[in-house]
Amino acid sequence: MSSDPVIIVGAGIGGLTAALALLRRGIDVAVYEQADELAEIGAGVQISANGTRVLHTLGLASALKACAVEAQSKEVRHWQSGRTWKLFDLGAASAERYGAPYYFIHRGDLHAVLAEAVYREKRDAIHLGATCAGVEQDTDGVTLHLAGGRQASGRLLIGADGVQSAVRASVFGAGRPQFTGCMAWRAVIPADRLRNGIPLAGTNWLGSGRHIVHYPLRRGEVLNFVALVDRADWRIESWTARGTPEECRADFAGWHEDARALVDAIAVPYKWALALREPMPRWSRGRVTLLGDACHPTLPDLAQGACMAIEDAFVLARCLAACGPDHEAAFARYEAARVPRTTRIVEGSAAAKSRFHDSRLADDRAAERYIAEEWSPERIEQRYDWLFRYDATAVEI
Ligand SMILES: Cc1cc2nc3c(=O)[nH]c(=O)nc-3n(C[C@H](O)[C@H](O)[C@H](O)COP(=O)(O)OP(=O)(O)OC[C@H]3O[C@@H](n4cnc5c(N)ncnc54)[C@H](O)[C@@H]3O)c2cc1C
Repeated sequence: MSSDPVIIVGAGIGGLTAALALLRRGIDVAVYEQADELAEIGAGVQISANGTRVLHTLGLASALKACAVEAQSKEVRHWQSGRTWKLFDLGAASAERYGAPYYFIHRGDLHAVLAEAVYREKRDAIHLGATCAGVEQDTDGVTLHLAGGRQASGRLLIGADGVQSAVRASVFGAGRPQFTGCMAWRAVIPADRLRNGIPLAGTNWLGSGRHIVHYPLRRGEVLNFVALVDRADWRIESWTARGTPEECRADFAGWHEDARALVDAIAVPYKWALALREPMPRWSRGRVTLLGDACHPTLPDLAQGACMAIEDAFVLARCLAACGPDHEAAFARYEAARVPRTTRIVEGSAAAKSRFHDSRLADDRAAERYIAEEWSPERIEQRYDWLFRYDATAVEI
């Protein structure tokens, strides 16, 4: 086997989890990240038991506990009447049922916990300011071409470079984003901007054609706010593009006062156009494979984007360790284990979006019947239990 490392392109959630899981198995890695520093960026992410189970196996339980909020419950509320229904109990119930907690965590905090753990394993594992411009491979290895003309060699390469993956484009051709006609507002609201403080339950406000999701972060000091609106007039897929508070408020005119209080408290709303790519039946070619958003970008409605990347990373590390030098066998086992589940989650997220935006939600009486049916305990269990039970540390490979 060549002594070159496994190259990982992208030091996001999936890339860092893969680096850590591989280093722990004695497999050398070199991570190349376009950002010049691993700065705090993004807002909240939800990590359900299927994700925390992996992170705990990687020894990160106490570091996560120190910066995450352990979710106690989630609920749904009607956009106009404000009526509340229970979605599910979390807290002790999640720990008891699934053996792992459900966390609300700032993406920057999760990222920092992962990066620190990677640095502890290998001080010079992560190369910053290194943008992938293309990938070449032959029977002996892979060459990563970086912007500016530098190159790096590896025996294998993992494209963990997110939704606009340059690795995917280089190896499989550029997929065209299909805009979904839906955009997201995102904001982080400090507690002192909210007269009634920060609601501690994770909440989904449901309305016809739009919904709001919010949950606490950082010991309840800030609230993470995400709202999806059926609107086709915004076409920029970005985590950093800004909108105006007025425009955001206009999208929620007429909503219940508790929901409007949140919208009114937003100082800087970020706008993100939701796009999907053709699902990929294969993620690997030769010595290159993909993970996370690079191969299965999803709508955020099942809150599984980060969890899927974490699961992919761990299963891929297990496959590479199990198959030794036979990377073809490793990639085949990885895809067999992961493609069906991630496809089901991507499809399930699109179905969840339609359910959250159903036209019956417009009318109060029809909404009552619709929510009682669609959010009955049996329906909720059917929709979520299989997600949370999945064990990437033990699933057959
Ligand atoms: C800046 C940012 C903010 C986000 N904020 C949120 C959020 O608030 N809430 C939420 O639910 N999800 C957020 N996400 C998405 C969420 O983190 C992902 O769905 C999930 O973590 C999937 O992980 P991933 O590793 O596949 O991709 P990501 O976590 O997106 O990581 C991809 C990494 O690859 C790097 N990269 C991209 N192109 C190149 C290139 N050509 N060369 C080298 N490196 C490259 C990126 O800089 C990034 O570090 C955010 C993603 C990003 C990049």
